[in-house]
This record gives sequence, C-alpha cells and structure tokens, in this order.
Amino acid sequence: MRQSNFFMPTLKEAPADAVAASHKIMIRGGYIRQVTAGVYSYLPLGYRVLRKAERIIEEEMDRINVPEMIMPHLLPATLWQESGRYYKYGDEMFKLKDRHGRDSLLGPTHEETFTEIIAKNLKSYKQMPLALYQIQTKFRDENRPRFGLLRGREFVMLDGYSFAATREQLDKQFDDQKAAYKRIFKRAGVTVHPVIADSGTMGGKNSTEFQAPAAIGEDTIATNEKGTYAANLEMAKSIDTFKQEPEELKTMEKVATPGCETIDQLTEFLHVPATRIVKSILYMADDQKILVLIRADKQINEVKLGHLLDANEVREATAEELVNVTGSEKGGVGPVKADWADKVIADETVKGLYNVVVGANETGYQFQNANLDRDFKVDEFSDIRTANEGEPDPVDHLPLQFTTSIEVGHIFKLGTYYTETMGADFLDQNGKAQPVIMGSYGIGVTRMLSAAVEQNLTEHGVAWPKEIAPFTLHLIQMKMNDEDQTKLAESLETKFSEKYDVLYDDRKERAGVKFADADLVGAPIRITIGKKAADGIVEVKRPTDDKAVEISVDDLEAFVA
Ligand code: ATP
Ligand code: MG
Ligand code: MG
Ligand code: MG
Repeated sequence: MRQSNFFMPTLKEAPADAVAASHKIMIRGGYIRQVTAGVYSYLPLGYRVLRKAERIIEEEMDRINVPEMIMPHLLPATLWQESGRYYKYGDEMFKLKDRHGRDSLLGPTHEETFTEIIAKNLKSYKQMPLALYQIQTKFRDENRPRFGLLRGREFVMLDGYSFAATREQLDKQFDDQKAAYKRIFKRAGVTVHPVIADSGTMGGKNSTEFQAPAAIGEDTIATNEKGTYAANLEMAKSIDTFKQEPEELKTMEKVATPGCETIDQLTEFLHVPATRIVKSILYMADDQKILVLIRADKQINEVKLGHLLDANEVREATAEELVNVTGSEKGGVGPVKADWADKVIADETVKGLYNVVVGANETGYQFQNANLDRDFKVDEFSDIRTANEGEPDPVDHLPLQFTTSIEVGHIFKLGTYYTETMGADFLDQNGKAQPVIMGSYGIGVTRMLSAAVEQNLTEHGVAWPKEIAPFTLHLIQMKMNDEDQTKLAESLETKFSEKYDVLYDDRKERAGVKFADADLVGAPIRITIGKKAADGIVEVKRPTDDKAVEISVDDLEAFVA
C-alpha cells in the first residue's frame, strides 16, 4: 500500500475529550472518527486492525469446530418479551417502533435470537454438542460512553452460544471456548487474567471474565505474583467477607448473582464452601427493596429466612430483631411469607437482582453502604480461592496486587433458562424431551483493540502486536526525488509485499512528519531508506527500540523474519 494513496488523517493534538491513551492514539493516528457519542467510523487504518482481530477469532473458532454465522441487528420486541428480558434489560436497550407501530430493538446481545433458531431447528441429542458464533455490531445505550472504543454505544462483539444435551458436553464446550479465548488474546497481544465474575443480565453460572490490566481500566482485579490467583475484586471481596470478624465488617459488599435460585447454587457460584456461610447474611435487593436472608444453622438447605427492608432502612439491626429473623421456623417476619425468599430469588423478572453479603455475630449485623473503592489489606484476602482453572483450590497466593483492568471477554454456563422459557427442547436417547443446555461466550472485539493499545504504548505512539498491526512493515523513503532511494524502496516494497503487509511512505513530506506518523502506525518493523540507499544501507527500528540502526539490505530479510 502506497501511503500517498492511503487515507490516514493524522492530528498533532488529540481532542480535549480524549482521556484514554488508546483513544488519543486512535484519533491522532486517523484510525477512527467519532460520529456521535460512543459511535465511531473505522477509517482504513482502524478497519485493518479490526479485520485482523476478526481473522484471529475466525481461525481460533475454526480450530475448535465452531462455525460462524450472522444474525440481524434489528430484532422484534416479541423475541425479548418471550425471554422476559425486554422488561428487565433496562435503559441500555435501543428501542424503536416500525411504521406499523411494532416494537423493535437493536440487539445488545443475542441469546434470544440464537435460542429461537435452535428451538426451531434442533430436534435431537444427535445434533449436539453444537456451538455457533458471530462477529457483529452490538448496540447498547451506555450511560457514559467514553474512552473511545473502550465503551461505545455501537461496538463489535464476538458472541458465541453453545448447545448441549448433557452437563458434561457443556463443561467440555466451556473449556474449549476458554482455551480458544486465551489463544485469541495471546495472538492479539493482549495480556489477560481469567477471573470469577458475575453474569450480568444474561444470567448463568461459572461466570469467567477475561480482564486485561491497564491504567485506564474501569474494573479492579486482584492477582498474585505467581500467576496462580486472579479475581474480580467484587467477587474476591464477597468471598472474603465471610471470614472477617464482625468488628471489621464496616462495609457491605454488593455482588450480582443472577441465576442462583438456591443457597447451594449461590455457594457454588461464589466458590465458597458451605461451612463458610455460617452466620452470614445474604441480601437480595432491587432498587426499592432489600431481602435479608439469614442462615440459621450449618445445614445449607435450611436457609429459609427472610426479612424485607426498604433500601433506605439499611442500618445496624439490633440483636433482638435478628433473633426474630433467625428464630423463625417458617422463615421470615413481617410481610415476608415463608417461601417468599425462594420465590423472589427465582423470579427472573425482578430487576437488577443483587446479592449483598456481609458477616455477622451474635450481637449485631452491620448494614452499610459499601464503598467499593476502598483499599484492601493483603491479609483480608488470606482465604480466598483461585479463580484461574477449573474447580477452586486453596492456594498460597499472597501477596496480592490490585490492578485496574479492562473486561475484554466474558464467558458463562447459561444452563436452561433461555431454552426452557423459549421452548428449545430436544429428544434425548430415550425419546424424552429435555431443554437444551446453553453456554454463552463474548469478546468485545473493538474494546480488545483499545486494550491492545493501552498495553503496548510507546513514547509517541503504539507498538502494535504483530498479528493485529495494521501494517507489519513500514517502508519510509526520506527523499522522494532521489532516484537511488526510489529504486531501493520500490524493490523492497515488491519483495516484502509477498510475505508482509507493507505500507510504503512515498509522500513528499518532511522526515519529521513521516516519523511522527510512523509512530502512530506502530508497525512492528520500520525500514528507513535514506542517504545510504546507493550503498545498499538502510535503517531499521522496532517501535520499542530507542534508536534506529543501520543494516545492509542483504541482512534485511533475516532481521525482518
Ligand atoms: P461492562 O461491564 O464493561 O459494561 P458487560 O459486562 O456489560 O461489560 P457483556 O455483556 O459481558 O459486557 O458483553 C461481552 C463483552 O462485550 C464484554 O466483556 C466487553 O468486552 C464487551 N463490551 C460490553 N459493553 C461494551 C461497550 N459498551 N463497548 C465496547 N465493548 C463492550
Ligand atoms: Mg455493561
Ligand atoms: Mg461487566
Ligand atoms: Mg460482562
């Protein structure tokens, strides 16, 4: 590609609203341009990077035998009414009406759409295990779109869905996807930690986020030096509170645990052994109400107690009040019915179900707002468990470090919520109808590109990881009216174009302009053709090198490879 024909409108200064380094570089380098808040055009440079990331994903999905397809962006509300999510997804959903007054939406994620296809087209256990994916633009009316591609209102997501006849099949699919995700991030040059997390409005269990440490990250994770431990801070804290002494319980932690209908499931979800929940309080809350569940004894199945509070009633309760709550055989005081707790937890239509977990002792319980941003002492984490691989094992993971990070991917075992509500059954080996068991897998592709930049910054630009670099080789000719230089540059362009994505800066620009732009292109190798072209000498530089070095053209091939 000749740079004189390329469209790469670079800027000396980033716009004032660009805070994130990746946002600044992508604007300054002419990768993207904002059209409206959180909505971007991908100019040729940005689009090349995006396509490369997509190609990596395609290769890795092929490798685990998951076929690609594409779903519509425009979806009928009826589909989402069927699952119940139309009412609980919230303001992030872009809703619209067509000319006939029918309610529609722009897909923020596609569980329903895939479930419907399966409901209509998959009949037998013989058709499973099956997984499908798409790389598609998603729409979410984010409250605060910001940081360029990190939080857009229109963004590209890889979303995949797996369908299984048995739990074992689901487990295998989940592991395959997790392994594929690790390869994708590695090839894209993004360092990630898989961490235990909550599943958001999609519901589900075994939720694992892929978190990319970066200064601009909106999340916080705890990791250890050995690389044996990584946790989403919210999860780590909710677990940790179980072991704290009541006096230390000055904060209340908020953790969403959708899909946990019983304490057993909650226990599994939180990766806390049952015995650790003794004397703890579990809150289920939406915007108005908080349900307090209190465990009465060591039998986890006997958690049946509830107490309903208004959110603004949250306060320290007296021991007496708590005796009332804990002492009730039927479970529940005041307006709470015996089975109320189970019902509410199971009722998926309750908006924004949250669990808040605190510790307790005989004399009192602390009900306070949590400040999630407070500092944590290392010894507060002395008994949390590994989130890295498979079943949680106790690990010697200290000391922990806390890092801000970017959620670049999220995978979880959905179970049968969607298939049961939407009637996606299959006939098992005995001819019996069973709901299909689902998993759900997502990568924020455009967000991942920003993460790659955030993790690979240089003094004046970016050092793109090789596999997603817009160009892998940047040839820069110093003087366009120098015949020796032109001859050499053109011959190198021809030679290397066979194997590499070559950008040839053939513009009649000053060296300073060319180098400044090259810092923003961030190609893994830059070759400058200058004064010594006639002698077959050029200069080479990687974006992370301090200085360019001279090299004979004969040695170039070896250097580049
Ligand atoms: P976040 O917590 O950052 O809002 P999420 O948990 O709502 O993300 P998911 O529903 O898990 O997002 O979607 C899967 C992936 O899509 C996320 O892991 C993230 O990488 C990406 N993603 C989500 N929202 C955005 C957005 N507004 N802009 C860019 N990428 C996004
Ligand atoms: Mg979100
Ligand atoms: Mg999230
Ligand atoms: Mg998520």
